[in-house]
Amino acid sequence: MGLQVYINGKWMPKELASVSVFDHGLLYGDGVFEGIRAYGSLVFRLREHLQRLWESAHTLMITIPLTKQQMERVIIETLRTNRLQDAYIRVVVTRGVGDLGLDPAKCKTPTIFVITDKIVLYPASLYKKGLKIITVPTVRNLPEAINPAIKSLNYLNNILAKIEAKNSGCEEALMMNHQGYVTECTGDNIFMVKTESGTRRKPVLITPPDYLGALKGITRQAIIELAQSRKIAFEARVITRHDLFNADEVFLTGTAAEVIPVVEIDGRKIGAGKPGKMTNILLGDFHRLTKKDGVRYRL
Ligand code: PMP
Repeated sequence: MGLQVYINGKWMPKELASVSVFDHGLLYGDGVFEGIRAYGSLVFRLREHLQRLWESAHTLMITIPLTKQQMERVIIETLRTNRLQDAYIRVVVTRGVGDLGLDPAKCKTPTIFVITDKIVLYPASLYKKGLKIITVPTVRNLPEAINPAIKSLNYLNNILAKIEAKNSGCEEALMMNHQGYVTECTGDNIFMVKTESGTRRKPVLITPPDYLGALKGITRQAIIELAQSRKIAFEARVITRHDLFNADEVFLTGTAAEVIPVVEIDGRKIGAGKPGKMTNILLGDFHRLTKKDGVRYRL
């Protein structure tokens, strides 16, 4: 049996799972989504992902026609149907089928689908050697326009940035906001570590505050909590490229990438030019967390 996809109340083979050409998710990017992971039959922070999905939908005034509990059951059932213990889960809710006009009121029922698939891991070499990233000209969406806190189907801002990074030979783009402050990358949040001069001489973990325009990453939150339980000093602080260039360590966080070290930004070597100590500690802590923090299911 091939991969089964949940769509609007039913499971069907992936070849048959399709949406209408009149779906506003397709016509206008009018919808929301989540990317979630399961580790050894444990869905990592599932409730937090569903909460974010519901919040994104609420802001867009899309009423998801399931309860969070029902959605949780759909996700678990999809994993079980596909006999997946380790998986990447994509949950999508669109405005639904309407006419060719923009009017969301013409869309009567949201389209819902859930895809669970084998997780495609980044090459291990990337974690050992670290990433080289580049700042791109496309600025992150203004929170006053399309708030990056909404995980919407409209990802063109990120896609343009990704194209610009790839045109310059980099896999990932660093995005500024309209004032030139660091926000995040195209699919990951960003952190830096800096030992500041002064009496403390202790490394501080820093990430931009999300009001500047970034997704409130679930992995980001997990890393903040792990750092706090290790009593690592943490601050959400406005940072510039200059701050990143002169950091001891930089790393990115996201559901797919987990914690990935950054060793070069815009041609500037970061720290010693190899993955840093705190990055590796937090990556280890994160791996341990994925083995215990989540919703368990049985195949
Ligand atoms: N920023 C953006 C723009 C994202 O799309 C994502 C998710 N891929 C993240 C950050 C990381 O968020 P999370 O840790 O919740 O996956």
